[in-house]
Amino acid sequence: MRYISTRHTKEGGGPGPVGFDDVLLAGLARDGGLYVPARWPALNARALDALAALDYPTLAARVLAPFTAGVIDERTLLAMAKDAYASFDHPATAPLIQLGPNRWLLELFHGPTLAFKDFALQFLGRLFDHVLAKRGARLTIVGATSGDTGSAAIAACRGRANLSVFILHPHGRVSEVQRRQMTSVLDDNVHNIAIDGSFDDCQALVKAMFNDLAFRDQLSLGAINSINWARVAAQIVYYVYAALRLGAPARHVAFVVPTGNFGNVYAGYAARQIGLPIKRLHVATNVNDILARFLASGAYQRAGVTPSLSPSMDIEVASNFERLLFELHGGDGAVVRKLMDQLGTEGRFAVGAAELESARQVFRGHRADDTAALDAIARTYKETGHLIDPHTAAGIAAADETEEDVPLICLATAHPAKFPDAVERATGVTPKLPERLADLLERPERATRLPNDLSRVKEFVRSHAGLGDARRTAGGAR
Ligand SMILES: *Cc1c(COP(=O)(O)O)cnc(C)c1O
Repeated sequence: MRYISTRHTKEGGGPGPVGFDDVLLAGLARDGGLYVPARWPALNARALDALAALDYPTLAARVLAPFTAGVIDERTLLAMAKDAYASFDHPATAPLIQLGPNRWLLELFHGPTLAFKDFALQFLGRLFDHVLAKRGARLTIVGATSGDTGSAAIAACRGRANLSVFILHPHGRVSEVQRRQMTSVLDDNVHNIAIDGSFDDCQALVKAMFNDLAFRDQLSLGAINSINWARVAAQIVYYVYAALRLGAPARHVAFVVPTGNFGNVYAGYAARQIGLPIKRLHVATNVNDILARFLASGAYQRAGVTPSLSPSMDIEVASNFERLLFELHGGDGAVVRKLMDQLGTEGRFAVGAAELESARQVFRGHRADDTAALDAIARTYKETGHLIDPHTAAGIAAADETEEDVPLICLATAHPAKFPDAVERATGVTPKLPERLADLLERPERATRLPNDLSRVKEFVRSHAGLGDARRTAGGAR
């Protein structure tokens, strides 16, 4: 399997197709585009039937094998998947709960950090290990987080010999549970940096480190954010798993996906592209509704970020949306580049009627503000006895706007105990953390507080990346 950039043009030269290992380590393509498969692998109805009885790790290896073909074989994938999903709390890994006659909740929050990001990142940590060991290389992961990504990335990278991980978070601006999920991890290769600034400042610092090519090469910087194709690939699996349990391939299903950067719902699109009978993908947004507005009008227009009760969906532009644009324009990277340039200079672009129509064949957009989300939490609790988090609630509010004649699967993207204040506000009930995290609020923490100053942050990363004597980094970030 080869991958191409969404900004690739046949005549323009640019980077040629690359393999899965290069895609994994590079994250972003050198021309600024995102990697996508050069061709979609196909699962026909017979092949899907043969997957119906598999447990989650076995299914993961089977679904991912075509995407890693030529680099990692299915047996190796299976060992990784078993190891990755052994850390999940539920025997079904991704249990389906029935909420109503035709409505289901797919619980994706039984991983180590209680959000769906564990599905991809637990796998990614092991993929990195495998590829780096084979190459005899090291990687320095650098990322910024407003909450969920950082803890999932740290949980995935902790203790891995060939990796060190630096996560920047805005000091005092993440929730206590989110902060402690990061700072209570005391492994020597984990470095939490609390920046005196906002999440945007953190992101700008990370971007600046990647843009310093000498620094990037010297430290062998790697990215773990949601534009990494391997994350998308790992997320395809639970769409297949859920659909098979509800009668696919004989029966179609529809999904509702609480959406921020369009990574999760794009994985649903990828599942459909390889043959899963998905009738519709509902894109649930909060007040930061650029995707819902696009799906209504064909215009993609920035409008700033408004903080909400579902912070992981508070985005101005959705980074993975570029992958859909590439598909809508028949794989024409020149058009994608033009539109993305226009977004940069004018803050907006629009697609043609035919492209909008083809997007609307698959996707529908929805918007739920905080009031609607709180209402969905309260109603779900009253009607079913289940507590849901505010991200999942945006999806439930979207589901209430739909009329589907096929099973509707709502993705539950975070554990309610990750956002206890909103849940308590809506229901009067305080959701409890799972047993293994019950003492989270008493665990010792370690983080380094730094000013919003690029040279100070770079200096810290350089001196703690463990490129010299490995022991020198031990306890270094205290
Ligand atoms: C990251 C996240 C989302 C958004 O997912 P995208 O892939 O960015 O669209 C939704 N809900 C929760 C709880 C998240 O952590």
